[in-house]
Amino acid sequence: MKSEVILETSNLTVYYGSQRGIKDLNLSIKKGEIFGFLGPNGAGKTTTLRVVLDIIPILIFIYNKTRYFNLENKFYADINCTGCGICSKICLSGKIKMKDNKPTWNKKIKCIFCFACIHYCPAHAIQIKNGKTIVRGRYHHPEVSAGEIINQKNNSPCHISIFKEK
Ligand code: SF4
Ligand code: SF4
Repeated sequence: MKSEVILETSNLTVYYGSQRGIKDLNLSIKKGEIFGFLGPNGAGKTTTLRVVLDIIPILIFIYNKTRYFNLENKFYADINCTGCGICSKICLSGKIKMKDNKPTWNKKIKCIFCFACIHYCPAHAIQIKNGKTIVRGRYHHPEVSAGEIINQKNNSPCHISIFKEK
């Protein structure tokens, strides 16, 4: 099943200057699967592991950097907000609550930067203070509706309990 795949590469190619480290590597590793690399010296085993393992610190760096810029406290809904409440229902951390028909962002709850609130707001009303969201478009997965995310969120047994209010 596609959902069980935890690591996938598609035509992964790495160059060291003009030297090629890996070419067109296609991998698909499923959860629980034991996976080994076999190959002669210079086949690219170490390079592959480095690339895969380096992605994790990069993602953590981006996550921390975004938090550093205090982005999670810069969301607001502009005058186009209709009070539909979708942002509150879709918010994966539970940070958004509706108050007087307007979304409010609870500072005590950590944002997980999924940006679902911004991209699934039907009125494009959610903005980031001093950001460029006003002039930029909204881009969500074309085949995933807000309703599907909300259903999944509500029916998931492990729904993000680590982000509970202190
Ligand atoms: S989804 Fe958009 S329009 Fe609906 S309540 Fe939230 S900000 Fe307002
Ligand atoms: S980015 Fe995601 S977690 Fe953060 S407030 Fe928006 S919907 Fe909630």
